[in-house]
Amino acid sequence: MKTINDFNFEDKKALIRVDFNVPLNDEFQVTDDTRIQSAKPTIIKILEDGGSCVLMSHLGRPKGVDEKFSLQHIVDKVSEVIGVQVKFVNDCVGASVEEAVAGLQNGEILLLENLRFHGEEKAGDVAFAEQLSKLGDVYVNDAFGTAHRAHASTAVIAQFFPENKCFGSLLAKEIESIDKVLNNSEKPVTAILGGAKVSSKIGVIENIIEKVDHIIVGGGMTFTFVKALGGSIGNSLVEEDKLQLALDILKIAKEKNTEIHLPVDAVIADNFANDANTQTVNTNEIPDGWMGLDVGPETSKKFAEVLANSKTILWNGPLGVFEMENFAKGTIELGNAIDAATKNGAFSLVGGGDSVAAVKQFGFADKVSYVSTGGGAMLESLEGKTLPGIDAILN
Ligand code: AMP
Repeated sequence: MKTINDFNFEDKKALIRVDFNVPLNDEFQVTDDTRIQSAKPTIIKILEDGGSCVLMSHLGRPKGVDEKFSLQHIVDKVSEVIGVQVKFVNDCVGASVEEAVAGLQNGEILLLENLRFHGEEKAGDVAFAEQLSKLGDVYVNDAFGTAHRAHASTAVIAQFFPENKCFGSLLAKEIESIDKVLNNSEKPVTAILGGAKVSSKIGVIENIIEKVDHIIVGGGMTFTFVKALGGSIGNSLVEEDKLQLALDILKIAKEKNTEIHLPVDAVIADNFANDANTQTVNTNEIPDGWMGLDVGPETSKKFAEVLANSKTILWNGPLGVFEMENFAKGTIELGNAIDAATKNGAFSLVGGGDSVAAVKQFGFADKVSYVSTGGGAMLESLEGKTLPGIDAILN
């Protein structure tokens, strides 16, 4: 696996695909600079080598050129985070851009305009990728968030750098972390799968079921399992067409010696609202008119015991409706248990959509070993899929 550490960037222009798809407020200010911070080590290494950086990214989902999605809005924030005044050019291909790149000195950074102002980016257009490829000597992919897309700047472009292509340090770290959990893990390995639905996690379950020792199930998908096993789930979230699938998963797990841990108790509510009436009951004895919105204290205790004995932990998806304070406790308790296991030497990886939001909201980001920056890309990696952005660098 070639990374930026295999190159000396002295006098070289690095063309870096970053993921600067950051949230902006109404005044176009960056409200969370995590993605910019994440790209910093790669940029700094290249500048310190004596090279220059040409940064390319998308922002949002513009249909053609749209000022609202201009990367001009983030120039000041990128400059502040990196500590270098960043230059900007108001397109990403063409003569004016090539001129700006030609004038770039060692130690300088040039940010290109939103790649998605050109429809060719998402279409994976080869001619567009070739135009982009003129803007650097070495192609560096450091955008895990878009690594599952076969877009011009994330995958197609790599063919124009047969020798001079590599992973940035963020993307390399993402790949290593997933590998550490799925392929080179220290046992016992525990995967926690929460979130809303079985259907969105089925690919992950199928891929990891043989690789892990324990699967902790939480969140809305619990009730499809509980109902399949004959329990009463009241008005809880359920996928009626996945009941047989839930039974099949339990059967395969048994055959593979993988223990599936289902919540034993649930915090139930008479309404999907923070101020609903609540009570705690056994997960399989939920009365009609009530729905399970969080795991109960017995479950938290049980899950903490499994985690205390785990050496590798993967967490994807919250255990309850954590956005509402009264149903966040199970997710917070789980975070505490992962924190304790990590302090005890376990490797813990959190990734994929809402668990990252939960981890940040409750202050666990610094307490786990690694928080992935990719939602869809992380899920597809866990499903065992080859990501085009990664494949294009490797092959
Ligand atoms: P996902 O994107 O699949 O990880 O799902 C995350 C969402 O699942 C969050 O918005 C949670 O509020 C939701 N969720 C978690 N537990 C439950 C539950 N018991 N009932 C309904 N939704 C839930």
